[in-house]
Amino acid sequence: MKEAFFYEKLEDNKVKCNLCNHHCIISQDARGICGVRENRDGKLYSLVYGKVIAYHIDPIEKKPLFHFYPGSASYSISTVGCNFRCLHCQNYTISQYPKLYKDIPGEDFTPEDVVKEARAGGCQSISYTYTEPTIFLEFAYDCMVLAHKEGIKNVWVSNGYISESALRFIAPYLDAINVDLKGDDEFYKKICGARVEPVMKNIKLLHELGIWVEVTTLIIPELNDS
Ligand code: SF4
Repeated sequence: MKEAFFYEKLEDNKVKCNLCNHHCIISQDARGICGVRENRDGKLYSLVYGKVIAYHIDPIEKKPLFHFYPGSASYSISTVGCNFRCLHCQNYTISQYPKLYKDIPGEDFTPEDVVKEARAGGCQSISYTYTEPTIFLEFAYDCMVLAHKEGIKNVWVSNGYISESALRFIAPYLDAINVDLKGDDEFYKKICGARVEPVMKNIKLLHELGIWVEVTTLIIPELNDS
């Protein structure tokens, strides 16, 4: 557990999380939409810092990134939790876990452990993936800073719903990103519990910031194929 970045204190011991575009207002002892950020006595905490639920060496093409160090291996990690609730999520057992259960499962890793494992596996990059890296930004950020010191690149596989301030904060350490552009605004509202406009804005901003961007759209017949 670690005190969260990107929040402000409000009256009545409430806090406002500014990590993603939901900007949740969270009462005492409650959690945000992602289920992994909790208000304890007027302070917001990340419950998933260092709690790695999945780690694996993947080909970079599985992220999928097809034009960023092709043929290389990427050490891939995630924690539980997500700020979306996509009805078709293939990783729902870990992404939606905190919305169903109170505990936060995961193996304890330090950023040093993550970078060491990436090196040992001959990986040219570390990918923050499987769930949504925004919701474990505090841990991802510490790994990313250390990875760059060791000459390892950083990759996010993201829904692109991060707030602008948080995106600018990680940008110096982010080398490449794959953003899921899932459909139109109706699709985002009905299927994902979000909106499309912040995602579109972030794709443009990522490009302006000089980060390598690839965009994926999963076609679901009759929902987003017209
Ligand atoms: S990161 Fe979580 S708590 Fe923060 S605004 Fe997004 S959904 Fe809400």
